Amino acid sequence: MSTAQRYQPIKTTKPVVGKARKLKDLMQRGDNRVCADCSAPDPKFASSNIGVFLCLKCGDVHRALGPDISNILSVTLDDWSDTDIDSMVEVGGNSYANSIYEAFLPKDHPKPKPDSPMEYRTEFIRAKYEIQDFLKPSLRITSKSGFESTNSVKSDDSSFSKRVPEDTREFVGKLNITVVKGTQLAVRDMLTSDPYVVLTLGEQKALTTVKASDLNPIWNEVLNLSVPRNYGPLKLEVYDHDTFSADDIMGEAEIDLKPMITAAMAFGDPSFHADMQIGRWFMTRDNCLLTDSIVNIVSGKVKQEVYLKLQNVESGEMELELEWARLD
Ligand SMILES: [Zn+2]
Repeated sequence: MSTAQRYQPIKTTKPVVGKARKLKDLMQRGDNRVCADCSAPDPKFASSNIGVFLCLKCGDVHRALGPDISNILSVTLDDWSDTDIDSMVEVGGNSYANSIYEAFLPKDHPKPKPDSPMEYRTEFIRAKYEIQDFLKPSLRITSKSGFESTNSVKSDDSSFSKRVPEDTREFVGKLNITVVKGTQLAVRDMLTSDPYVVLTLGEQKALTTVKASDLNPIWNEVLNLSVPRNYGPLKLEVYDHDTFSADDIMGEAEIDLKPMITAAMAFGDPSFHADMQIGRWFMTRDNCLLTDSIVNIVSGKVKQEVYLKLQNVESGEMELELEWARLD
C-alpha cells in the first residue's frame, strides 16, 4: 500500500462509498461517540474484528495485544477493506459489543475512565478481551491450553448463522411485553390525562387499555408481538385518549431488542439453564434507559426489565418487562 493511498480519508478509497457510508453512520451513533473501554469522547480508532470504537490510549493498548486479538484501524486515516467494514457493521458497535464483553462485569471491577493510569487501563482491556473475564461463561474462549485467538464475538455469531442458513421463516420469535406502569406522565387535559400505550414493531401494533384520569397508571397488561427476522427497535408511544379530537402524544421511547434476542439465540433453549444473567442493554446518553437493562434467564425463560424515560415530552417514565419466546 502506498503512503499516498494510506492517508486518504475512507470516503475516497476504492469504490466502497456505500460501505464507507455504513461505517460513518455507525460511528455517528451515540454509543459509538465515546470510547468503548474508557468512555473518552470522540474516539478516533476502531477494532475491526472486535467491532468497537476506541480512544487513542485504549487503541494503543489494543494494538499491543496484537492484530489476532484486536485489529486496530484509524477511523480517518487507514485504508479500510470491505471485510473490515462488514465486520464492524456486523457487530454493530460499542453498545452491542459491550453487552457481550461486559455482560458479567463485576461491580468491584469498574471500567477505566478517560484519565485512568495506563496500568489500570491495560489490566482492564486484557481482562475484557484477551482473558474475557466478563463474558458469559459459555462464550469464553480461554482454555487450559491457553488463548485461542481465532474466536471472537463475531465468529461466534457467524457460527450461529451458519447453523441456520436455511432459515427463511418470516418470524424468529415472539415477545410477550408486560406494560407494567407509567409514572409522572404528562398532563394533557387540564389537570390529568387518560393514557394508553401503543407498541409498534415493524408493521405490528399492540395497544393497552385506556386508564382514565391517571398520571401514574398501573396496567400490568401483557401485549404480544411477533419478531420478524430483520427486526428493528420496538417503539413505545403513550397517548392521551380524547373523545372529541385526535389523541395527544404524551411521549415516546425506542427499545433496542438486539441485546435480548442475540443473547437468547446464543443460549438456545433457556429451560436448560439455571437462573443467570445473559446480557445487558447499556444506558447511554443517547438512549432512553433510566438504568442498564439486564437480560436474565428466570425459571427457564428469557426476561428483561426495562425502565424508560419518555422522550419528547416534559415528564414521564415507563416500566416494562419483556419476555422472549422461541417459535420452535
Ligand atoms: Zn479509551
